[in-house]
Amino acid sequence: MVSVHDRQGNYWLEQVDNEPLAAASGRITADVVVVGGGIAGLSAARRLSELGRDVVLLEADLCGSGATGKSSGFITPDSELELSSLVTKFGDADAALLWRAAQAACAAMRADVDAWQLPCDLVPADSFWVARSRRKSAAIQREHEAHARLGFASRLYQGDEVGDVLGGSGFAAGVRSPGTFGMNALAYARGLRRAVSSRGVRCFERSPAVAIERNEVHTPDAVVRAGVVVVCLDRFAPALGIATKDNFHAQAFLTLTEPLGAATWREIFPEAPLLVWDSDLVYQYFRRTREGRLLVGGGRLIETFAAEHPHSKSFAKLERYARARFAGLRDVRFTHAWQGLIGMSKDVLPIAGRSPDEPSHYLAMCGAGLPWSVLAGQCAAALVAGQAAPLARFFAPGRRFHWIERFQPVLGKPVTWALSYLFAK
Ligand SMILES: Cc1cc2nc3c(=O)[nH]c(=O)nc-3n(C[C@H](O)[C@H](O)[C@H](O)COP(=O)(O)OP(=O)(O)OC[C@H]3O[C@@H](n4cnc5c(N)ncnc54)[C@H](O)[C@@H]3O)c2cc1C
Repeated sequence: MVSVHDRQGNYWLEQVDNEPLAAASGRITADVVVVGGGIAGLSAARRLSELGRDVVLLEADLCGSGATGKSSGFITPDSELELSSLVTKFGDADAALLWRAAQAACAAMRADVDAWQLPCDLVPADSFWVARSRRKSAAIQREHEAHARLGFASRLYQGDEVGDVLGGSGFAAGVRSPGTFGMNALAYARGLRRAVSSRGVRCFERSPAVAIERNEVHTPDAVVRAGVVVVCLDRFAPALGIATKDNFHAQAFLTLTEPLGAATWREIFPEAPLLVWDSDLVYQYFRRTREGRLLVGGGRLIETFAAEHPHSKSFAKLERYARARFAGLRDVRFTHAWQGLIGMSKDVLPIAGRSPDEPSHYLAMCGAGLPWSVLAGQCAAALVAGQAAPLARFFAPGRRFHWIERFQPVLGKPVTWALSYLFAK
């Protein structure tokens, strides 16, 4: 077997242009400076420019090069929390409000891809959350019931019915929802960057903020002065002393096969490609890329809230998982492997809104999912412009999380986040 060290890294990088924009230099002024050019920062910049603001965006590396460009590109409202988890926490009406917003964010991304005719490895595919055991089937049933009760489309598959749409072994039930797709989110971020530039947003790459003061952001070669600073740094924010208590990361691992033959695809998805994730706490997920490769993601609990570890055993675990399920993968090569850190709050919802520490600062971070990060960026932008933001009450910075957080100074961040994640799910 090939060692993971012989594999190539992030597959998405092979499909995009990696030429950076010019870096910021000198003294620059704007209405708003957005710090961080991932999907949250680009979405905030986009909405602010639509609202007539003069915007500068500063990105430390290339736009999309953080979590956005490393992601597995499942574009579904269920990024980390299923609808049934939202119902448990907020009740039917608020869960439906949040779900509709996340669905709308997915649909808007799809509309962008179509409007820009963006080559971004688009693969239309329904979402399919599957139970790995009969015991876990109850959660799948609850998810289907929540969809049905709140008027969202879904279909339940039980026992042998699962095999009609998902081959292989070891799946006891599944709930399928339409309107979702897979894509190269790095290519989408680059498309979004071009769209905001064409709207007049001044984007600078290789321009890390080294200090954020009241109305000024300093990079190695520039000082940007603006009425408002929107911090869209996801898990990088604590490095600049922002949201240190409430912002941490989860680690995810991805591995990718060589292109598979038609027979293997018939074995995996007898009917049509799906975005699949399972019912484990640190869940496994897989989908098809446009080129016909199988992308498999997941991790191990011990590494989820740990520091980045390039020689992780998680890659081997994911490959074993895939080969154990699908006979056609027995001799297939896994050609790429990479990992990334995802900014995460303790309740796994975004942190977006005015900073409790500095009134001229707004935050949009810890979306823990691409559509939710879009919503975080849009929410912060609306608040900057004094507009209504219906999701602001869920995303408020400085909100209280679980009582567990009282013990954070003793438990430390990894344990506090592991326990909070358990409660949120
Ligand atoms: C391996 C992996 C798989 C994932 N899979 C999925 C998935 O399938 N579906 C899904 O919905 N979500 C997925 N996610 C989560 C999703 O990618 C993130 O939640 C989302 O991209 C966060 O967007 P963001 O803009 O907040 O953060 P980021 O994309 O990380 O953007 C933050 C930006 O800030 C920049 N930056 C850092 N420091 C500075 C500085 N000092 N100055 C200026 N800029 C700075 C970074 O370079 C980065 O570009 C995955 C994430 C990972 C890592």
